[in-house]
Amino acid sequence: MRHIDHFMAGPTGPGTGRKHQVWDPSIGKVQAEVSLGDAELLDRAVENAKKVQPAWAMTNPQRRARVMFRFKQLLEDHMQELAELLSSEHGKTVDDAKGDVQRGLEVIEYACGIPHVSKGEYTQGAGPGIDVYSMRQPLGIGAGITPFNFPAMIPMWMFGMAIAAGNAFILKPSERDPSVPVRLAELFLEAGAPEGLLQVVHGDKEMVDAILDHPDIPAISFVGSSDIAHYVYKRGVAAGKRVQAMGGAKNHGIVMPDADLDMVVNDLCGAAFGSAGERCMALPVVVPVGEDTADRLREKLIPAIHALRVGVSSDPEAHYGPVVTPEHKQRIEQWIDTAENEGAEVVIDGRGFSLQGHENGFFVGPTLLDHVTTAMESYREEIFGPVLQMVRAKNFEEAVHLPSAHQYGNGVAIFTRNGHAAREFAQRVNVGMVGINVPIPVPVSYHSFGGWKRSAFGDTNQYGEEGLRFWTKVKTVTQRWPDGFAEADNKDAFVIPTMG
Ligand code: NAD
Repeated sequence: MRHIDHFMAGPTGPGTGRKHQVWDPSIGKVQAEVSLGDAELLDRAVENAKKVQPAWAMTNPQRRARVMFRFKQLLEDHMQELAELLSSEHGKTVDDAKGDVQRGLEVIEYACGIPHVSKGEYTQGAGPGIDVYSMRQPLGIGAGITPFNFPAMIPMWMFGMAIAAGNAFILKPSERDPSVPVRLAELFLEAGAPEGLLQVVHGDKEMVDAILDHPDIPAISFVGSSDIAHYVYKRGVAAGKRVQAMGGAKNHGIVMPDADLDMVVNDLCGAAFGSAGERCMALPVVVPVGEDTADRLREKLIPAIHALRVGVSSDPEAHYGPVVTPEHKQRIEQWIDTAENEGAEVVIDGRGFSLQGHENGFFVGPTLLDHVTTAMESYREEIFGPVLQMVRAKNFEEAVHLPSAHQYGNGVAIFTRNGHAAREFAQRVNVGMVGINVPIPVPVSYHSFGGWKRSAFGDTNQYGEEGLRFWTKVKTVTQRWPDGFAEADNKDAFVIPTMG
């Protein structure tokens, strides 16, 4: 059986002996096992990082950028290999996996601009002979704890910015698909990064707790489900650390009566069912405004959903592949049971779906639920599967209220031809990322990513300028060079009128 180990600069030590199974979700078989680390292993990684970080922080930003440029090139060269590896452990299609790598690569591209984006601020003449400047300095050793659903993109959101800014980085990826994060670290080394600058330690709660309690890790970025995000945030902050912790989501797509329904149906098929719905920016709730809009939309949605092709992750024709584990498949099917018991209409039922020739794979058929209400638990909680719930709104006001009142506030979209409705919606909705006729409004790398409410704990977003802020601290220097410091014998040469 293939074994996946930690990626560290030095020896990993005796280890815990604990392992976690890694599935191939398309065939429902265990394909590898990954070592799970503990506090002692983390100590070793931290000691390795301490050896290289000070010199890296002193390396001028152009040189740091050159490593990022080379890494970006290696990502492009290895795109197919990375996508296939990712797809085989996660279950998303190879094309989709390329998107995962590509979105991370774009953050690396932004990080290539570190000399420009990390320039400080300067005020000349803040007082008589006084100038003030501020600089951004790295924090030291940063850590990232990442979810299974974007094993390439999310680690790169974090280490791309942290390392470019002069930090060392310890990544604790999801134990469910750990191979790509290790491969990224290998490529980063190949790009010229010093050994120990980026290390990967595998683990579960034990390792996460060790990271949260480690006195030499001042900053932690987490992405995962909300209860764990909240736990990480509270424990990390209590230990005096800087923490950003992104959580779950339940994104709504508002469909106004004037929307182009063919476009909406096409967008919903991608945004609700792509990657088997295992995206924090998926659109699992559609909110048609008015009964007539709902009926027209439903009529067009049904054949489009029936036409979706579910296949193994290597099937180039497949619209989406299996979900990540057998437990997750079971949980999604239980949510459909719950919705039905709560009174939702199961219009298209994906339970019990079996793919011919791959009967053991973790497939869930596309599911459409209508007449879902806000009282239902299946509406309030995240399902994270290929399940689209329709909540019918009476009017625009109710459509703004639904996502605004929901416990999650990651993303939202509105589909309309009316600029005024779109503008009002974007202004008023209580959600962090808004799409206007854009179903998955993940901001480009030079903006930044972050939800509101229980979708994110902490103050700064991921990547872009916000990412740089998170991974650095500001030092501000107020300087004065008063007259009279000159040597007595050449005083005349130093007679300089001072700017007031
Ligand atoms: P998860 O919360 O199960 O795991 C995330 C990380 O936490 C993993 O590294 C895991 O090892 C660790 N972990 C698991 N249990 C833990 C525990 N009890 N204590 C400490 N650490 C623990 O999340 P997941 O299932 O891997 O990912 C899916 C979730 O992530 C969904 O809720 C999704 O919405 C969310 N997500 C959010 C964003 C965002 O940016 N808001 C992006 C992607 C995914």
